[in-house]
Amino acid sequence: MTYKSGFVAIVGRPNVGKSTLMNALVGQKIAITTPVAQTTRNRLKGIVNLANAQIILVDTPGIHKPHHLLGQVLVKNAISAIKTVDLVLWLVDGSCPAGAGDRFIANLIKESQQPTIVGINKQDLGKEGLPSYQEIAQANNWTWENFSALDGQGLTDLQTKIIDLLPPGPQYYPPDLVTDQPERFIMAELIREQVLLLTREEVPHSVAVIIEQVIEEPKITKVYGCICVERTSQKGILIGKNGAMLKEIGTQAREQMQKLVMGKIHLELFVKVEPHWRSSRSQLAELGYQVERDT
Ligand code: GDP
Ligand code: MG
Repeated sequence: MTYKSGFVAIVGRPNVGKSTLMNALVGQKIAITTPVAQTTRNRLKGIVNLANAQIILVDTPGIHKPHHLLGQVLVKNAISAIKTVDLVLWLVDGSCPAGAGDRFIANLIKESQQPTIVGINKQDLGKEGLPSYQEIAQANNWTWENFSALDGQGLTDLQTKIIDLLPPGPQYYPPDLVTDQPERFIMAELIREQVLLLTREEVPHSVAVIIEQVIEEPKITKVYGCICVERTSQKGILIGKNGAMLKEIGTQAREQMQKLVMGKIHLELFVKVEPHWRSSRSQLAELGYQVERDT
């Protein structure tokens, strides 16, 4: 049997379940998922290692109409992700019919002329959207698969379809790797996830997390992290009454991080105000976001 491998971009509207699907296929939590749209910022790779194939999933930020510089960067990253991969997995929420946002993305993919699978997700919630997505798939000669990333139903068939469409290729990454990102990055993301989950709309997406230091001791790993916000009022919300909010964020994030490192974690968090970081390219780059050049 020929060994197959390749890069698969998971693209789709915000909140359709891209990060959830990536974690489910990889079998480990590497991408954060929240009910808040636009959680994923960086391009994160998830590696699925099988006896006959290596699937490298590229999680992309959701594609939407950009409002500020960070938004434009997100869309640009998603579009360039489509062009550089071997296969596109267009993920949609199959529990509701295709809307303008879905058709916008379908057109971007069509223009790229890349081999494409339509992944019809959230089938546990209902199948109302199924006919509309199948119609778009048929019009473009794309194959499709319906499944639930949350409960796992249909994912084996999806995996088989992905491998079918991948070219023969090498093992790009060592087989024990599940992601291309360093542990520090995942740790920062796990903290950001709790900030988004626990503060909701009060602290919007203007949050960045930096891991300043990781000290590995024999029995415990000490992690020092900084949460950057744009306004003093947001700092207040994050810290909470008598520090209660920051404590809760830390407790929840620490639990997730202990699963990641499979050991004990001591976590200390600080909050810092960095005005206007979202509009500044150099600061975006400094905070670790990939700002791609115009081509
Ligand atoms: P992304 O923005 O596309 O990366 O979406 P996420 O993976 O962050 O998921 C957004 C929300 O949809 C989260 O609350 C997930 O738990 C939920 N979700 C993802 N996949 C499914 C699914 O198959 N069924 C259901 N019911 N919810 C899902
Ligand atoms: Mg995501």
